[in-house]
Amino acid sequence: MAAAAVSAGRAVNDISLLAVSKTFPDGALRCAYQAGQIRFAESYVQEALEKISALQDLPIEWHFIGPIQSNKTRPIAENFAWVHSVDRVKIAERLSAQRPAHLSPLQLCLQVNISDESSKSGVSPDEVSDLAHAVARLPNLQLRGLMAIPAPSEDVTVQRTAFARVRELFDQLNRQGLQLDTLSMGMSHDFAAAIKEGATMVRVGSAIFGNRIYSEGMV
Ligand SMILES: *Cc1c(COP(=O)(O)O)cnc(C)c1O
Repeated sequence: MAAAAVSAGRAVNDISLLAVSKTFPDGALRCAYQAGQIRFAESYVQEALEKISALQDLPIEWHFIGPIQSNKTRPIAENFAWVHSVDRVKIAERLSAQRPAHLSPLQLCLQVNISDESSKSGVSPDEVSDLAHAVARLPNLQLRGLMAIPAPSEDVTVQRTAFARVRELFDQLNRQGLQLDTLSMGMSHDFAAAIKEGATMVRVGSAIFGNRIYSEGMV
């Protein structure tokens, strides 16, 4: 991350590292916490709730980055600080209504479907502006920015082109008066390209914890 930041002329402190801990046991998170990592991201609600409960002695900042079914919004609203994967106004409305009053506003990114036509997740670039303005009006939420998972590519130029498109949408929303400060983009294989195109938060799993082994019942 530091090397990518330096080569982009950016300060490394302007980019946060989100440790994506899905499929890894509590012990792995505890270890990473002891090494100084505070922000962790999970993709599956049930698995996340078990870890949140097992690690409640640590002041971890929990981020939800997985697909959201409308019947799962309540535990997300109650247990997470951030959600990166909102792509419909209905989900945002439920999170807003279900955010407990004693907690600070839920920090939100909208997931944009930037290059992966086959993926059902993410709002299309054409629709992101309407969604962002609708979400920005909801109480108990704070719209912070955009999240994207471009189609995987080994080609750094292709990676950078996709991230640059997300950055353009982000700049456009800010010109429309939204005050967004978060570009959640870049994973283990492409975080350097994302940092060069302006990522402020990278979501890294396997490069920290090793390869994931999915057990039965997980998607
Ligand atoms: C799993 C996941 C990541 C991390 O992927 P790695 O390739 O292991 O770094 C990042 N973002 C999202 C949305 C994920 O589901």
